[in-house]
Amino acid sequence: MTTHQAWLDDVRPNLYADQLAIGFRRLRFVRSLEREYREHMREDTFELRRIALCAGVLVWLAFAALDFLLVASSERWWMLAIRLLVLGLLLVCGLLLLVRRQSHLHLLTPLSLTCIVVPGLGAAAVVAVGHTVDPGYPYEGLLLVCMAAYFLAGLRLSEALASSLVVLLGYVVFELLAGLAIPRLINNVLFLLFGNLMGLVGCYLLEYKSREHFLVSRLMRVLADHDSLTGLHNRRSFDRQLERLWRQAQRENLPLALLLCDIDHFKAYNDHYGHQAGDAVLRRAGSVFGDAARRPLDMAVRLGGEEFAVLLYDITGEQALQRAEELRAALAGLKIEHARSDTADVVTLSIGVACVTPSEDGEFAQLYAHADRALYEAKAFGRNQVVA
Ligand code: GH3
Ligand code: MG
Ligand code: MG
Repeated sequence: MTTHQAWLDDVRPNLYADQLAIGFRRLRFVRSLEREYREHMREDTFELRRIALCAGVLVWLAFAALDFLLVASSERWWMLAIRLLVLGLLLVCGLLLLVRRQSHLHLLTPLSLTCIVVPGLGAAAVVAVGHTVDPGYPYEGLLLVCMAAYFLAGLRLSEALASSLVVLLGYVVFELLAGLAIPRLINNVLFLLFGNLMGLVGCYLLEYKSREHFLVSRLMRVLADHDSLTGLHNRRSFDRQLERLWRQAQRENLPLALLLCDIDHFKAYNDHYGHQAGDAVLRRAGSVFGDAARRPLDMAVRLGGEEFAVLLYDITGEQALQRAEELRAALAGLKIEHARSDTADVVTLSIGVACVTPSEDGEFAQLYAHADRALYEAKAFGRNQVVA
């Protein structure tokens, strides 16, 4: 864990890394992450719940057939009636679950809980009726319901435990009503409790690993898409976003602007002040760029070296130019001394701006090419300026 911890410290502050470092032994994340995890799990366990439900219905039918064959007395009709009722409820829940996935996503957990508690209580009632005929009637099937709660229904540990306890409690009540001998009841309940204890441990470990996997995979995604020095998006992430926004702008017939930015005389800065000082400048510049991409679809990116870009969605050419000018002024406003610059006595920025409303057959490379040409001109005209 110590090398793991050291590695985590390198990438903090980061929501996922922070949670990994704090730990989650109680199977709970900080509020916003907890919501994200539950949403992710709802999507992730949907298929499992679907399969489990089908398997559950088949097992339920098989047990009904066994009752029919093995119980000869009139009580078997009571048992079959209970089984039929539960089957009906299972099918209704199943249909709700399976048919309209998206619209019922918020119902997934209540429906899954119902699919555990209803067959659980049904099985408990069947067993209690069975015991009025034959005290040796098998009650172990109840354990199958509890195992389904812990491992198959996509429930979190707390939900699985609560539903299993409701089933167990229901079982005790039904048996007391049916008049099962107390020593036998104690024996059965103890067996079921120990079974539940195993389910509990297994389910804890599974949920712990599932949460850990969630955090690590999200963290990997963030790291793969961001630049480690400035924390801005990296080129890979930018290429994806540019392509996505280009298509969206084509569909919605809205303009898209690209600000290509390059720090002036940065090689000379490095040569004079050292690479470490250069890195510090890049970090400070990074936060200026980060502030420039305020709206959800905007993106600030470090393209590489001392080159940055800001992608702005649904913005006019004039507004884009104004934003570029603000950006240039903000960097100059940091007043980072630059003794070797031919342009000014502080670190400055040249920016090329392109703003396009994509046509049907346009390519997103056009936007980049226009901005690149504008940046080239900004450099040629003497740097520390914006060209569109
Ligand atoms: P111009 O005004 O024409 O843009 O000149 P320039 O010196 O800024 O441009 P040039 O492309 O010649 O040099 C870029 C320099 O950026 C070269 C390299 O030393 C420096 N650089 C690239 N990546 C990093 C980095 O991660 N950290 C530091 N400190 N410097 C970097
Ligand atoms: Mg450059
Ligand atoms: Mg440069």
